[in-house]
Amino acid sequence: MSEDCIFCKILNGDFGTEFVYENEYLAVFNDIHPKAPVHMLVVPKVHVASLNELEDKHLMGELLAGVKEAAKRAGLKAYKTQINTGKEAGQEVFHLHIHVMGRK
Ligand code: AMP
Ligand code: ZN
Repeated sequence: MSEDCIFCKILNGDFGTEFVYENEYLAVFNDIHPKAPVHMLVVPKVHVASLNELEDKHLMGELLAGVKEAAKRAGLKAYKTQINTGKEAGQEVFHLHIHVMGRK
């Protein structure tokens, strides 16, 4: 938990955000400014600033499994994923997240 991190606060339940899916490693919630009809964010429960700081290969696998599970639960057969890493690449929230975007 990082005190000034918006995603840590969401994961902590501070805003009552509804989770599309959740397990011991991650939570999935809808992006507040969707760029597709379905736009979800897969977010690890531990605070990791970006993919560059993620060392845990088991967690890497869990995050991809979370992408598949979220897509399935949202009824997406086809979808795009995106990980912005670093400010210059458009990363705005420095708590690792995988964008999952598609239409039903
Ligand atoms: P990125 O540019 O990869 O860091 O993406 C950050 C994403 O987080 C953007 O698509 C934002 O719309 C989304 N976002 C920011 N604040 C919130 C929030 N409170 N709840 C849900 N999504 C958010
Ligand atoms: Zn965080």
